[in-house]
Amino acid sequence: NTFAEIDLGEGLNANIRRCKYVKPTPVQRHAIPISLGGRDLMACAQTGSGKTAAFCFPIISGIMREQYVQRPRGARTVYPLALILSPTRELSCQIHEEARKFSYQTGVKVVVAYGGAPIKDQLRELERGVDILVATPGRLVDLLERARVSLQMIRYLALDEADRMLDMGFEPQIRKIVEQMDMPPPGVRQTMLFSATFPKEIQRLASDFLANYIFLAV
Ligand code: AMP
Repeated sequence: NTFAEIDLGEGLNANIRRCKYVKPTPVQRHAIPISLGGRDLMACAQTGSGKTAAFCFPIISGIMREQYVQRPRGARTVYPLALILSPTRELSCQIHEEARKFSYQTGVKVVVAYGGAPIKDQLRELERGVDILVATPGRLVDLLERARVSLQMIRYLALDEADRMLDMGFEPQIRKIVEQMDMPPPGVRQTMLFSATFPKEIQRLASDFLANYIFLAV
């Protein structure tokens, strides 16, 4: 099968053609229908498997339909609809770049925030509006503590390279972040957890953060 057969919304399908993606990779072939169907997902996926598109496509497709929902207007607080957490600045920037290509001319706004760089530029970017926030855990906690980002409207949460985030000691930050998301009625927030390995700690994250999830190993 091909991406042309999957209805992700016209804007996104056009961008996928523009990126010259024709056939889904194995993780995409399985993860995308699961996510479009509204289920939580824990996926075993290595770098190079095409996992970025596997979580970006369902998020962008969903946000294209939801970006006009009423959001609170805090003085300086922004309310993203989707959050993608990743362990490093490099990975966050890569995801941001890809997500921007996929959301080209769809009206979906993607912003990246990572540590080790001045927060000022990132704040200015956020103030211009954000639908999908790509972030490293430490910098996001900082933004939450400054009340510059609220996670109350998050509809989609993706954790990329979750095992690496735990190896780097980000578990407390990740838990703090997820605690800040309103507990919506079942099915409103959709969570995708991607990890190359599945030690006990990752399984515990999955049972704490995911609801009735599908386990995918490709
Ligand atoms: P990732 O595992 O997400 O880092 O993706 C690895 C590389 O494969 C990236 O350069 C993607 O742009 C590319 N890629 C991902 N999915 C596809 C696809 N379905 N067709 C062609 N290239 C792809």
